[in-house]
Amino acid sequence: MSASSLTDFEIVALDFWPITVPLTDTFAISSGSITSAESVYIRVTLRGGATGFGECAPFTSITGEDQLGTLAAVERLKEAVVGRSCGSLRAISGMLAERAPSAPAARCGIETAILDAFCHAAGVPMWTYFGGATRDGFETDITLPMLGREKCLQLADHWHRRGFRVLKVKVGSHVDSDIAVIHDIFARYPDTSFVVDANQGFSEPDALLLMRALQKSGVAVRMIEQPVQKSDLEAMARLRRERIYPICADESAASRQDAVALVGAGAADIINIKIMKCGVVEAFDIALYGLTAGLQIMFGGMMETRLAMGCSLAMAAGIGSVHTLDLDTPLLMAEDPLTGGYQYDGPRMVLAEGAGMGIAAQLKM
Ligand SMILES: [Mg+2]
Repeated sequence: MSASSLTDFEIVALDFWPITVPLTDTFAISSGSITSAESVYIRVTLRGGATGFGECAPFTSITGEDQLGTLAAVERLKEAVVGRSCGSLRAISGMLAERAPSAPAARCGIETAILDAFCHAAGVPMWTYFGGATRDGFETDITLPMLGREKCLQLADHWHRRGFRVLKVKVGSHVDSDIAVIHDIFARYPDTSFVVDANQGFSEPDALLLMRALQKSGVAVRMIEQPVQKSDLEAMARLRRERIYPICADESAASRQDAVALVGAGAADIINIKIMKCGVVEAFDIALYGLTAGLQIMFGGMMETRLAMGCSLAMAAGIGSVHTLDLDTPLLMAEDPLTGGYQYDGPRMVLAEGAGMGIAAQLKM
């Protein structure tokens, strides 16, 4: 549907509802574990009739947010959004950040739905809104949670047979067994490369121990992600100066200010861009700032369905220069509650045709 006048862009309704999707396996990382995705879906309706969808995916052990708190935050923010134009996304984003600084997942879902509605009203795909660099060539990694050696090898085999060649391994509890698991997988599948994510779990000496051990055996490591506590930029800078593997900042990069501090401290080679950490507009700003400052960017997510991931994929396709895509969490779920949108072909992510994200969720009130 295309808007014929500016009044058609006015947001006249914002509906939201909780959605819980079971995971195939427990998702365990160094900071905690979950067995289902607990999101909040949002639908924005414009005066001209166009609609847009968004997802809030709070991840308690990383940001302290949860589904109930997110529902409350969206309820609180709703009245400030209805009546605004979906064409003023940056202004709305700034207003939301002022009103709900500690509810980034809620803000992200609202921003995504507003942007999707805008794209539908304008009749353009979302990836063109972000710059339209390229829609081809996107492949995601696949995550192996911390479920012990046997399960990790079983999952590595499962995904390798489906064409996945970039494995994200969650580490950061016992460095010796972490090293052993990666060695085992690499020995069995020497054509794979690794994203090694500690979620802040290592001490600096343990991180260095792991990096040297993997280097010694020639493991292809694309990056060491968030090896140490997010505030310890000095340790990250020292690990980076070892020039063993690129260092990626995830938890350390949750805002524009964080990104500036990382660059100032020389603490990262790569930034993991996640819309759920800060909302869509701020994530886009961080991505462009990171690239401008000479860093590389990857796109990741919390435990998100294809609704939030579709927005991140659109941003990646809009910008084009992406080191790694870690947009795999829908593949870890037992169900897909959505219709339309991008699809997975093995690790390949195939963008949808049509306006917005081309995706729809079933309204549950
Ligand atoms: Mg991470």
